[in-house]
Amino acid sequence: MPNLMEIIRQIQRDLSCPICGQSYEIGKIRLRGLFDRTLIIQTICASGHLTLFMTTVKVQKKIPISTNDIIDLHKALENFNGDFQKVWKN
Ligand SMILES: [Zn+2]
Repeated sequence: MPNLMEIIRQIQRDLSCPICGQSYEIGKIRLRGLFDRTLIIQTICASGHLTLFMTTVKVQKKIPISTNDIIDLHKALENFNGDFQKVWKN
């Protein structure tokens, strides 16, 4: 996972207040919660507009995949009939 400071810097770069359009100061971006890989970020702009953002953290750790896994995946995709509901029920 990228560290919190990187996430906060990225938010500061990419986001601005949806009400007045001001960009945020680093100190005004706070982490409010983490659910699975979703971060809840609270921001407050210089005019005092409070906003909550949700962002999903990309996992950077690389998981080794064996050749067998790829063959299995191909088989699974060949047999897959597009019925996601069925897949999720199993
Ligand atoms: Zn604002």
